[in-house]
Amino acid sequence: EARPTDTAKRVVVAAPRGYCAGVDRAVQTVEKALDTYGAPIYVRKQIVHNRHVVETLSERGAIFVDELDEVPNDSLVIFSAHGVSPAVKAEAEARGLRTIDATCPLVTKVHHEAKRFANQGVQILLIGHGGHEEVEGTSGEAPDHITLVEHPADVDQLEVADPERVAWLSQTTLSVDETMETVDRLREKFPHLIDPPSDDICYATQNRQSAVKQIAAHSDLVIVVGSANSSNSVRLVEVALEAGARAAHRIDNADEIDPTWLTGVSSVGVTSGASVPESLVQGVLSYLEQQGFPPAEQERLVEENLTFALPHELRTSRRGTR
Ligand code: SF4
Repeated sequence: EARPTDTAKRVVVAAPRGYCAGVDRAVQTVEKALDTYGAPIYVRKQIVHNRHVVETLSERGAIFVDELDEVPNDSLVIFSAHGVSPAVKAEAEARGLRTIDATCPLVTKVHHEAKRFANQGVQILLIGHGGHEEVEGTSGEAPDHITLVEHPADVDQLEVADPERVAWLSQTTLSVDETMETVDRLREKFPHLIDPPSDDICYATQNRQSAVKQIAAHSDLVIVVGSANSSNSVRLVEVALEAGARAAHRIDNADEIDPTWLTGVSSVGVTSGASVPESLVQGVLSYLEQQGFPPAEQERLVEENLTFALPHELRTSRRGTR
């Protein structure tokens, strides 16, 4: 039962939040492939790291697999937004599988940078999380030239072949501040360190972190909607805490809110990761209203207008139906 609204309380929802251009494109790719070719459509890895998105697409006939050996011959397989290594693409080609690549163009950009540095004989220090699909995909472009750097503290032990020929790249969804700390340490150790041509941490990651920083400073509690395996969502919790939120929690949806989190809390900040449908955020705001909080106010940091065209296989309707 809904409680009366307490006017001393406040809910602020951050903007930008939720879907970025790469996630929007990847989800639409699976939806349009299902519409065009019919179920089943295979998807290697989670198309984006969100439980709700994966469940919804599964209900429509998408089959999510970890590796290509789970995909039957003559099937259509979609590569996820996080990118794939050339070895996976080669395997699909060798098996004659039909593929559609939903890799975010901003991840593809990092792949190109890796290839270019490797071709120049430059050793690449890739800042990122070991085991993350994006890092596996990017590393696969030049396995002999890439060294993973996970934390600023890893820099001390780092050995390189030629300190005059090193460059850094990064995963797209890291903490901006922590990455800059790592880069500063790398540059101290390797003064000739080469920068990427432009930031690898993508616009969406940066904007969501800046927006949550702004609301965290005046929030007792920050709720981040996003799945546990979503790197950018997990970073939003860390950034909120660093920016002064008294507490911050990540949840997949409103059902996961522990009511005790709200005890003694008068200001709640809400945001969501780049893979999170807006309906899940609205579910959280409704829950808070039921608990006596007023309707949310939105604090917008910047507008985002970027969109990406669908993969070329899906741009024209119905051509190439199997
Ligand atoms: Fe692309 Fe950035 Fe979205 Fe990842 S978070 S899919 S890199 S826009």
